[in-house]
Amino acid sequence: MIANELVSNNGHLVIGGVDSIELTKKYGTPLYVFDVSEIRSQIRKFKSAFENNDLKYQISYASKAFAIKAIYQVMKQESVHIDVVSGGELYTALQAGFPSSKISFHGNNKTFEELVMAVKNHVGVIIIDNFYEIELLSRILKTDHEKINVMLRLTPGISAHTHKYDQTGQTDSKFGFDVGSGQADKAMKQVLDDPNMHLKGIHAHIGSQIFGTQGFTMLADKMVELAKHFQREFNYWPEVINLGGGFGISYTKDDDPISADEFIGKIANELKKACDNVPEVWIEPGRSIVAPAGYTLYTIGSRKDIPEKISYLSVDGGMGDNIRPALYQAKYEAVVANKMDQPLTQTVHIAGKYCESGDILIDQQRVPDTNPGDILAVLDTGAYGYSMAMNYNRNPRAAVVFVENGQDKLVVKRETYQDLTSLDLDY
Ligand SMILES: *Cc1c(COP(=O)(O)O)cnc(C)c1O
Repeated sequence: MIANELVSNNGHLVIGGVDSIELTKKYGTPLYVFDVSEIRSQIRKFKSAFENNDLKYQISYASKAFAIKAIYQVMKQESVHIDVVSGGELYTALQAGFPSSKISFHGNNKTFEELVMAVKNHVGVIIIDNFYEIELLSRILKTDHEKINVMLRLTPGISAHTHKYDQTGQTDSKFGFDVGSGQADKAMKQVLDDPNMHLKGIHAHIGSQIFGTQGFTMLADKMVELAKHFQREFNYWPEVINLGGGFGISYTKDDDPISADEFIGKIANELKKACDNVPEVWIEPGRSIVAPAGYTLYTIGSRKDIPEKISYLSVDGGMGDNIRPALYQAKYEAVVANKMDQPLTQTVHIAGKYCESGDILIDQQRVPDTNPGDILAVLDTGAYGYSMAMNYNRNPRAAVVFVENGQDKLVVKRETYQDLTSLDLDY
């Protein structure tokens, strides 16, 4: 929710020291706004949690949550690692000047071309997902006379309690080598036998928007148990245990996330109990780093009142800039950014402008009396918003602005109608 210091005297929402209404005048709507200091502060919380617990660590920002040049540059400034999951993300990161040695390359169906690109650019780690990938990578490394660090993505059979579309830790997941059936052992042997691959560690990711520490402590336990098994079977002890991402954030008052300190403290305890030689711990937070820092600003337009029922308040964006409510019933909260000082008088549906009846951004939102032209700010939209944006109904994608210390900077231009037809050819 919004703290008092984020409201100016004239009742305007203030983001990163900048009046949000001024931003809409300067850049138009819909507009994604990121408070960069919040991003930095979240990263620093993760870092200090590890340091307080005396663990060797690495934070690798899962950039699928929000992947543009400017965010990779912020990550470079904060000297963290990043995860990429496609040639496109890898390309964007390299274009941003992000060091390839700090990039981990993920994905359950990396193409031959993507693997070649990763090897040629010497990415820090390729996180191998399946046997076909071992075969492709092995061939590429041999032909190109290259060596590379790899980790094995394992599915240890732990599922965190969260929305079912978000679960990737079960044995029926499309991701990773199944531990229970012996696939993990077989993969381990193949990779250890390949002279061009250096097995840096083991990886698992149990889900997304996870609350509570239990899933992560169970995972930490399980990974140590697996490490001990690999030590017995293959005389291999991982340098790194990568516990993936999925740390939950508070989208609405019903969400109750745990602090970085709390779950990293618990993970550290678990690891220190379970083994003497604790490997370096890597985590891959995506959402928790960027979601709370993001705001989407819309202009309110039409309104439909259904007597005795509900009203629809429509905005000039919707599922094209934030697919999450339509895709998996994600919940958000919003404020009317130019009327922060006015009493909330009514409950409305916040509707998008796309031609889908499912294009509802917020099911029930308390708002003050509004007029067309008022500005709605949906909160915590920094993750999986712009990165999933699309051109349905040929709506151009919105611009992205970074704000920090009272300064604003355009980091992604608004798409134009000309952009929309730039790839179309005549017939
Ligand atoms: C998506 C993903 C993450 C990040 O998940 P968040 O919920 O955004 O923290 C981390 N690691 C892997 C392998 C992922 O697929």
